[in-house]
Amino acid sequence: MGAMTQTNVPTYFNFINGEWTPARSGETVKSINPANRNEIVGYVPSSGPEDLNLAVASAKSAQPGWRSLTGAVRGELLFKAADALERRLDEVAETMTREMGKTLGEAKGETARGIAILRYYAGEGMRKIGDVIPSTDSEALMYSTRVPLGVVGVIAPWNFPVAIPVWKMAPALIYGNTVVLKPANETTVTAVKVMQCLAEAGFPAGVVNLLSGKGSVIGQGLAEHPDVNGITFTGSNSVGKRVGHAALERGAKYQLEMGGKNPIIIANDADLDLAVEATISGGIRSTGQKCTATSRVIIMREVYDAFKEKLLDRIGQLKVGSGLDAQTWLGPCANENQLRTVLDYIRIGKEEGAALLIGGEQPEEAELADGFFVKPTVFDQVTPDMAIAREEIFGPVLALIAVDSIEEAIRIANDSDFGLSASIFSQNIGNILSFVRDMEAGLVRVNSETAGVELQAPFGGMKQSSSHSREQGQAAIEFFTSIKTVFIKP
Ligand code: NAD
Repeated sequence: MGAMTQTNVPTYFNFINGEWTPARSGETVKSINPANRNEIVGYVPSSGPEDLNLAVASAKSAQPGWRSLTGAVRGELLFKAADALERRLDEVAETMTREMGKTLGEAKGETARGIAILRYYAGEGMRKIGDVIPSTDSEALMYSTRVPLGVVGVIAPWNFPVAIPVWKMAPALIYGNTVVLKPANETTVTAVKVMQCLAEAGFPAGVVNLLSGKGSVIGQGLAEHPDVNGITFTGSNSVGKRVGHAALERGAKYQLEMGGKNPIIIANDADLDLAVEATISGGIRSTGQKCTATSRVIIMREVYDAFKEKLLDRIGQLKVGSGLDAQTWLGPCANENQLRTVLDYIRIGKEEGAALLIGGEQPEEAELADGFFVKPTVFDQVTPDMAIAREEIFGPVLALIAVDSIEEAIRIANDSDFGLSASIFSQNIGNILSFVRDMEAGLVRVNSETAGVELQAPFGGMKQSSSHSREQGQAAIEFFTSIKTVFIKP
């Protein structure tokens, strides 16, 4: 579909103080389909500092009323938001696929996850938020309780455009904070649809706000704004550090979830068929654009050739195409920059002396020419010092590394600035226990792909993958509240 022939492209607005509002400047930018750069998914506001001030002011003025409601009442609204998202699951998932390219099946799965997260945190409104602590004064009552931070700024990436904003907003809201969401530019239309579900649920005006705009203006502006009390960020390492510094500078609370360089270890006693499936699913699904994506495959030499043969055989079968096509296994990179980054790393890998086994280029099919596609790629003869073994690529690129022992495998797996998700495939309890004990990663998985984890369990990384707080499950209360210790003497 050419841009000239496209009619009725919708224009979307910010959501500020319960109203859908254009940017003050009236400026918009287009959100395009990475599977076909000529298709415009929608126009979204290009907001400026004035819009930011309005959104933060509305969140600030709504917060005292919101925090004074019971958790049960706040939870009711989250349940309603979940119902609204469930009613619109297909529409939201299709928008996600059009905006950032993941397959429709994955987009539906992610939207379902968003619904489950909303319901989980709706229930959290009825759970305990403190402890009674025995005082040495027999007449006194001493206890701890949890209080909201105030206004929370949510800065989200494009790779999970429903799940990540929801897993930040739902706990923020249930614990009594109000929210300003700044979605990634690539996936603003998807975020608008999620916000429409929250609006439909009937949150009081100003409790949830959405502001679309440049990271350097709205993201940075949120991190620096004196009335934003907490900033939760997921995205790249370089931006995360800036956000963290800006928040620290003014004493705001911050939470950063950033990149990964996730290893999978294939022991000589691994079930190789399962290990191959997990490597492909962990590394190539979502076009490798997951913070938990497998990118280093560390294989014991005895099974190296057998594993490699099975892996290449399966990778050769994966179909690249539009995420809307039911046959597609992997869609495009989410944007042109991401495609360039992936192609650059492929070039660097070759220059560094790694052996390209498969892929390494864009597909030839004419119908894919207008999209940001790249073939799934595997490098052999990778050494741990190469850039492709050290830096996050965020694309469907696997680096195979041969080792002689489990100890060497774990040492190489740990030889990274990152520590998000790590896996081992082994049947040997000794190997497994060594890995679980010694692996420096926030998510450690056995006979299972590198990935996130179920929504009721803590999620987050070590080292440069995270600011070390945890998201998801009951761990989220740690970031989204402050502890207040109370001592009462009658
Ligand atoms: P990004 O850092 O470019 O952008 C993330 C968000 O920050 C976007 O909303 C962007 O507009 C905003 N932003 C950009 N510049 C900013 C600035 N100066 N100040 C404040 N905000 C700014 O990341 P991305 O390309 O959207 O996402 C990919 C990255 O996200 C990868 O590195 C990936 O590993 C990481 N990621 C991590 C997790 C995790 O949980 N650890 C999950 C998903 C993605």
